[in-house]
Amino acid sequence: MIRPRGLTSEKVVIFKRKLLSWGGENFSVLPWRNRNRSFHSLIVELLLQRTKAEQVVPAYLQLKHRFPSSKALATASLEDIEKLIYSLGLKWRAGHILKLGQKIYYEYGGVPPLNREELMKLPGVGPYAAGAYLSLHSDIRAIIPDANMVRILGRVFGFTCYAETRKDKAFLKLCDRITPKRKFKEFNYAVLDFGRKVCTPTTPKHKVCPIKNICYYFMKNYQ
Ligand code: SF4
Repeated sequence: MIRPRGLTSEKVVIFKRKLLSWGGENFSVLPWRNRNRSFHSLIVELLLQRTKAEQVVPAYLQLKHRFPSSKALATASLEDIEKLIYSLGLKWRAGHILKLGQKIYYEYGGVPPLNREELMKLPGVGPYAAGAYLSLHSDIRAIIPDANMVRILGRVFGFTCYAETRKDKAFLKLCDRITPKRKFKEFNYAVLDFGRKVCTPTTPKHKVCPIKNICYYFMKNYQ
């Protein structure tokens, strides 16, 4: 179980406030970032797992053009989908996308469900995709416990991460605590952008980081 350090209400408030403010000024405009409950919005979250957003843009646009309806996707061939997402690698995702399209079309009338548990029963949908679909596309508060969140919270709250951190109860509780009740969408977007632009996996940009003064990792290594 993770053991966050310096987890005070004050630090949590500063973390939320600074991230929200940074996010407002550094929002990345991407073609799927809108309030849209379509099946495309869920599928793009599958494509974004383990893939850079910039790489996903052309594949997403082609997929949307080629399969404008859930019926078109549900009746597609596996080869068609493989060709469209070939550039992203991870060919195995094509099978998940096809099965997901079929489930959404045949069982949900073309629109994904709005329930986390139900979403996570769908092919290829894990905690990241479910949380992203609910909070970013459907205006329902949800946490996004992905690798990004693990890395940022691990550094700021000084805990050691391990292979199963994403499922760790204390980690999920911390995610819930730091995710705002109202501005959860803006906050989740801010965390995604912050993890891509500032608190990156290999070369975090501490100098320009708005939360370095409350970051355990920074204090320990650079103060
Ligand atoms: S100070 Fe560095 S490690 Fe800490 S949150 Fe900022 S970028 Fe990440």
